[in-house]
Amino acid sequence: MLNFHDYIKEDFQIPYDLEKDIRATIDNGFRLLKFPTRLEKRYHQDIFPLQQQRYFKLGIWAILLYNLFIFTDWFMIRDIYLTAWITRLGICTPLMVFALFMVNSSSLKRFINLLISILIFLVGVSIIFFLTISSHPNVIHYHTGVILVVIFSNIVLRIPFWYAFFTSFVILFVYILAIPHVFQMPVEVMINSSLVIMCAIIITLIGNYRMEKDLRRDYLLTMLQMIDNSKLEDANAKLEKLSLLDPLTGLANRRHFDHRLEQEIRTSMREGNPLSLILLDIDHFKLFNDNYGHPSGDNCLQQIANALKENINRPHDLVARYGGEEFVILLPYTHPDKATKLAEKIRSYVENLGIEHRYSDISSFVTVSLGISGGIIESGQDKAGLLENADKALYQAKLSGRNRVCSFQ
Ligand code: GH3
Ligand code: MG
Ligand code: MG
Repeated sequence: MLNFHDYIKEDFQIPYDLEKDIRATIDNGFRLLKFPTRLEKRYHQDIFPLQQQRYFKLGIWAILLYNLFIFTDWFMIRDIYLTAWITRLGICTPLMVFALFMVNSSSLKRFINLLISILIFLVGVSIIFFLTISSHPNVIHYHTGVILVVIFSNIVLRIPFWYAFFTSFVILFVYILAIPHVFQMPVEVMINSSLVIMCAIIITLIGNYRMEKDLRRDYLLTMLQMIDNSKLEDANAKLEKLSLLDPLTGLANRRHFDHRLEQEIRTSMREGNPLSLILLDIDHFKLFNDNYGHPSGDNCLQQIANALKENINRPHDLVARYGGEEFVILLPYTHPDKATKLAEKIRSYVENLGIEHRYSDISSFVTVSLGISGGIIESGQDKAGLLENADKALYQAKLSGRNRVCSFQ
């Protein structure tokens, strides 16, 4: 029944800022059936489609049931049956049909409950009107119709509590004003009928209050649940992102790289495109660390990571920290010759960063060696093979003097 969940979900934007209001409202209760302003506004927005649906469906029933009494008008208040028919069919029914159309238009969103309440009032008063103008002896039983109107509006149509409250008591007030004019109604019947209507109002209002309170509580709990869910989704997305990043350099980590490499190998093989790998290792980094300290080593790693980010910027490429002081660059759609040129560019870029390394026997600055593997991927070639080849090329670069690029032959 309370399926407004779907409606909220449709355009649900995480109202984290509403969370405090929601929790406070649940804690404080909402005995007067009113939320803090912003929440109240949102509540009305969210339940409006449900209200629309309910008012429309039940409005059709209301028209049918109200006009069912055309038959009893004939024998209960025969002296004025024509006036009754005209009132029912000529005034109230067209107004109800008009309301049915209005309910479906969103432009009346703010006034929908007021409109329905006015209509309920008119229908109630129409019955009271018949009572006052008829001189038929049966008329003293006719007040029961007012009770039906109250039951329908407060329990079935379930207009919001405060609308129900005021509409019902205004009808009662009009009834009390009208009954002295009812033909031959003994005082006892006047008192009793007023009391019966009043009790019907109180009983239905108690029910109406409880239903609205439950609806509001359910709404708040649903909102909270959705906020919790979206927080959890956000946290998961963050975790997922973090689990793929190297915390020191902000580059992709090895896990991410391994996953992407597998994907790219499959794509290359399928499409027949070349794919290259560059493995980069800092030269004499142990000496750097030992002499300048670990924090300076970390700083150097970050600078080199930034240098790689600067130089690698095609959307398919991926730079990752492979481990320790080794980095790897994945270059889909790239022939090893091109990769070698890029590697040379990176090598000289790093050297030109001018990160002092007095303890290196190659240069007075930090340098890197790079190994390249790749080409058109043939079936049977795998991740391990490509990495192994890049590693061999890197080893070759180290062997032949460091600060250089070697390609796997
Ligand atoms: P080579 O030129 O042959 O590569 O010599 P190398 O000293 O660079 O190589 P080696 O493998 O002996 O040393 C790598 C050093 O990298 C050892 C370790 O202290 C340092 N290292 C690895 N990870 C980190 C890190 O996260 N931070 C810092 N500061 N140092 C690291
Ligand atoms: Mg190394
Ligand atoms: Mg090294």
